[in-house]
Amino acid sequence: MDNKVLRKLFLGFIQIHILHHAKEEAIYGSWMLEELYEHGYDISPGTLYPILHNMEVDGLLEKEEVNVSGKIRKYYRTTTKGDTILEEAREKAYELFKEIK
Ligand SMILES: [Zn+2]
Repeated sequence: MDNKVLRKLFLGFIQIHILHHAKEEAIYGSWMLEELYEHGYDISPGTLYPILHNMEVDGLLEKEEVNVSGKIRKYYRTTTKGDTILEEAREKAYELFKEIK
């Protein structure tokens, strides 16, 4: 993802991807990094963590800090607002992909 324009585009895809998984079950950063990597997004923790934080600030995700063998792990789940945004984004994405596929 060296291209600036592509990075901007992918940021939206990544956020939809995060919402999708955080709706199904609580996710945490390193799990999400691996999941994104499997889908072809090679992003760094330094990119992902601010995204998760901003989505929390925007009220799309809620965070729960869990002590996992002495280390605090931040788990994220979607809020009601996050679910609504995901639903809208899903419809728009589907509509677009039908056209450009
Ligand atoms: Zn996925």
